Amino acid sequence: MQNVLQLNGITKYYGNILALNNVSFGVPAGSVFGILGPNGSGKTTMLGIVMNILRASSGSFEFYGQPSSAEMRKKIGTLLETPNFYHYLSADKNLRIAAEIKGKGFDQVDDVLKKVNLYERKSSKFSTYSLGMKQRLAIASCLLGNPDVLIFDEPTNGLDPVGIAEIRDLIKRLATEGKTIIMASHLLDEVEKVCTHVAILKRGNLLTAGKVSEVLVNEDIVEVGAANMDGLETALQSLNGYTSLTKTDTVIQLHYGGIAGSLENINRHCFDNGIVLNHLQLKKKSLEAMFLELTGN
Ligand code: ATP
Repeated sequence: MQNVLQLNGITKYYGNILALNNVSFGVPAGSVFGILGPNGSGKTTMLGIVMNILRASSGSFEFYGQPSSAEMRKKIGTLLETPNFYHYLSADKNLRIAAEIKGKGFDQVDDVLKKVNLYERKSSKFSTYSLGMKQRLAIASCLLGNPDVLIFDEPTNGLDPVGIAEIRDLIKRLATEGKTIIMASHLLDEVEKVCTHVAILKRGNLLTAGKVSEVLVNEDIVEVGAANMDGLETALQSLNGYTSLTKTDTVIQLHYGGIAGSLENINRHCFDNGIVLNHLQLKKKSLEAMFLELTGN
């Protein structure tokens, strides 16, 4: 699958504050790509750079294999902060104004209102809208011009649970229409529920990137190996804590439902049972472990 967006070693300094440190990853077409990280990890900076609002200190990025251009940016709808709608005008009027500013026809206004489930309320004043409806109207505005790529910064921030659920459903619906959605979030749970892919940032450093199903694995796997594999298996039978064990010719994998116990304990247990390990490795981090590392708690 072609990458819609590719970041190559993006670094950004604000004065001597390092906000992004040599970050590289690709966003596959059709993905809902979450940029996950706590406050101050560099998410907004990254989105600002790919939208040409900010300039990277070094590194480069491409959309569809091409350096960013005004033409390319027309294919991208962005919601970086809540746009300024007129409170005393209807949703419909507000979108007509947005369409005019963006140089798009009015004919799409009804369409985008339907997409975000606001068509029935299109004549109501913006001031009568709930926060969730306001956010959906902002997304409707992004959809004018039918962009292939949507970029949202914390799209559910500040909303109540109903508003959050509506925005998440809308994002998933837009994805089924083939849009690529790049969204920043500080909520692990949100990325797990909404995104197909994720890049995890911590203080400007990319911890990992890939499919949610591979990165956010709710399991630790410890691989162990020894010259005497049968003896190793016997020794592991008296080890506590893991939920299951799988075996190949060269390694045994111990699966932990949560966070694995310390590798030292496993090593010591095997040694005490007469087995010297020649391989001991933590393969995947659990969701909790990842999150703890992320938030630094
Ligand atoms: P948040 O969710 O709080 O917006 P974020 O992950 O989007 O966080 P950024 O806003 O990109 O993070 O900030 C990354 C780092 O860069 C932080 O240390 C922040 O203080 C710093 N920073 C951001 N903007 C500026 C600026 N204009 N001048 C100086 N430092 C900045």
